[in-house]
Amino acid sequence: MAEDADVIVIGAGLAGLVAATEIADAGKRVIVVEQEGEQNLGGQAFWSFGGLFLVNSPEQRRLGIKDSFELALQDWMGTAGFDRDEDHWPRRWAEAYVAFAAGEKRGWLRAMGHRIFPVVGWAERGGYDAMGHGNSVPRFHVTWGTGPGIVEPFERRAREAQKTGRLTFKFRHRADALSMTSGAVDGVSGAILEPDDVERGKSSSRQVIGDFSFRAPAVIVASGGIGGNHDLVRKNWPRRLGAPPPHMISGVPEHVDGRMIGITEAIGARLINRDRMWHYVEGIRNWSPIWPRHGIRILPGPSSMWFDATGTRLPAPLFPGSDTLGQLQYIMATGHDYSWFILTQSIIKKEFALSGSEQNPDLTGKSWRMTIKRATNEGAPAPVEAFKENGADFIVRDNLADLVAAMNALVNDNLLKLEYIKTQIEARDREIANPYVKDAQVMNLHNARRYIGDRLIRTAKPHRILDPAHGPLIAVKLNILTRKTLGGFETDLDSRVFGNDGQIIRGLFAVGEAAGFGGGGVHGYRSLEGTFLGGCLFSGRNAGRAAAKAVG
Ligand SMILES: Cc1cc2nc3c(=O)[nH]c(=O)nc-3n(C[C@H](O)[C@H](O)[C@H](O)COP(=O)(O)OP(=O)(O)OC[C@H]3O[C@@H](n4cnc5c(N)ncnc54)[C@H](O)[C@@H]3O)c2cc1C
Repeated sequence: MAEDADVIVIGAGLAGLVAATEIADAGKRVIVVEQEGEQNLGGQAFWSFGGLFLVNSPEQRRLGIKDSFELALQDWMGTAGFDRDEDHWPRRWAEAYVAFAAGEKRGWLRAMGHRIFPVVGWAERGGYDAMGHGNSVPRFHVTWGTGPGIVEPFERRAREAQKTGRLTFKFRHRADALSMTSGAVDGVSGAILEPDDVERGKSSSRQVIGDFSFRAPAVIVASGGIGGNHDLVRKNWPRRLGAPPPHMISGVPEHVDGRMIGITEAIGARLINRDRMWHYVEGIRNWSPIWPRHGIRILPGPSSMWFDATGTRLPAPLFPGSDTLGQLQYIMATGHDYSWFILTQSIIKKEFALSGSEQNPDLTGKSWRMTIKRATNEGAPAPVEAFKENGADFIVRDNLADLVAAMNALVNDNLLKLEYIKTQIEARDREIANPYVKDAQVMNLHNARRYIGDRLIRTAKPHRILDPAHGPLIAVKLNILTRKTLGGFETDLDSRVFGNDGQIIRGLFAVGEAAGFGGGGVHGYRSLEGTFLGGCLFSGRNAGRAAAKAVG
C-alpha cells in the first residue's frame, strides 16, 4: 500500500512541532494530525510562561550566578530521586538533558530568533542539603514573549515547510488507533471532527463527520499528558501523596485528555512511572476562565506565610517556591485539599507572578516599558490586581480579625482560630528586627535578597506582616491545580518506544509529555522547573532527527 508520508506526528503541541520541523528540514514528508483546530497550534506551550531551564548561561553569568553542568546534574539527581529499575532510560535522559541545557540548547534557540528576559528566576529552591531537592542557583529563564515566544520559531519553520509541501497539517483529525504490520507501527486512523472556530484553549466540539487513515513507516506520539482528565489523574494518584484530592482545578486545557496514551498502550507500548506527576498547590480559580475548571498557578516569591486549612503554619522548609511535592504531601496529610497564604500588599506587589502567557501581557507582548514597571510600580502587575479584586480565592482586609473571619466564611467552616494565627504571625514578626535570625523562612528572605534578581523583582524587603504601613492584609485560598505528567512511554535516546517485552517497537516514537518528557520520566519524582518545555524541545528534536534517518 502507498505511504501518505515518511512520518506521521500525532499532536501539534510544542513537542510535535519540534519533531515535525526537524523531519521536514531533513527533506522528509511529514503529516501532523491534531484533534483541535488550527487556532490551537502549539498546544499547552502557547499558554505557558515560557520558563526554560538553562545552565551556566550568559544571563546567569551577567547576574553573577556561578552555575555548572556538575552543579545542575547534582541538583537534578537530588530532585529526581531515581530509585526504580525502570529508571534506567529516565536517568540516561536526565544526563543527556542537563548536558543539552548546559550546552546547545540556548544557542540552538537563539539561532531561530528566540530571546530571553535578562533577570533569571529562582524556582524550586529546596531547603534541604546540597544533595537534596531543588535548584542551588537561579536557572529559570523566561522567554521574551513567554509561551507564544517559544512556539513562534517552530511555527515559522512549520509554515515554511508547509509551503514546500514537506509538512501537512491535518487539523480536527483525532487519532483513535495505531496500525501495525508484522510488529511494526505503520499508520494512524481516526475520526474527522466537525470544524469549530471556538477560541484557542476553549473546549471544542467532538462531533464526528468522517474518518481517516494515513500510512507511514514511522509514527511519533506527541499527544501530551493527562492533566485535563481529573479521573485519570485520580486513578494514577500516588499513595505517597495521600488520597487523591476531592477538589482540584485544571492548569491545562481539556485537550490534555490522556486518551492517546491509552491507545498507544493498547498496542503494547510500555508506559512507566504513571504514578509520577507534578501538580501545584498554589492554584487559584480563574475569575475569567478559558477552559473548564480553569486555574492559574501563583509563582510565589518567598515571603508569604503559609498555613494549612487548620491554621497551622507549614513547617520548614515548605516555604513558597521551595518544594512543590513536599507541600502537596504535607497538605494532603492534613485531611484537607487546600491551604492559605497570608501576606501584605508590599509582598503581593513584588512577589506574586501568575503562570500563563495571558497573565503576563508585559512579557508576552515584549513591552520593555510595561515590564520595567514590575520593579517600580506602586501596585502589583495589573493581572494580579485584577485577581485581588475579582478572584474568588482572594480576601483583602485591614485587620487580622476581619481577615480570619472572612477566610472562615469563604470555606464555610470555623477551622481557623484568630488567636492561634495571630500568635504565629507575631512570633515571625519578632524575627524581622535582626538580619541574623532563627526563623528559617526569614533567614531565606535574607539569603534571597543577596541575589540581585530577587532583590529587584522577586523578594520584598523583610517587614512585619502585621505592620499596617505594609497593608492591607491579604489571604489567598490555595487549591490543588493539575498540570504535568511526569511518567510516560519508555524511550531510548532517539525517542524510540519500548514494548512490554523490552524490545523497541519498530516505527513508533514518543515525545514531550507523552514520553514523560523523554525516557518515560526524565524528571524522576520531581522537577527543577522550566524543564517541561525544554523536555519537549529535546525529545522532539531527537525523535525528529532519528525518525528522518530511520525512514532513509
Ligand atoms: C499555563 C501553563 C504554564 C506553563 N509554564 C511552563 C513553563 O514556564 N516552563 C515549562 O517548562 N513548562 C511550562 N508548562 C508546561 C508545558 O507547556 C507543557 O508541559 C508542554 O507544552 C507540553 O507539550 P506537549 O507537546 O508534550 O503536549 P501538548 O501541548 O498537550 O500538545 C499535545 C497536542 O496533541 C493533541 N492530541 C492529543 N491527543 C490527540 C489525538 N488522539 N489525536 C490528535 N491530536 C491529539 C492535543 O490536542 C494537543 O494539541 C506550562 C503549561 C501551562 C498550561
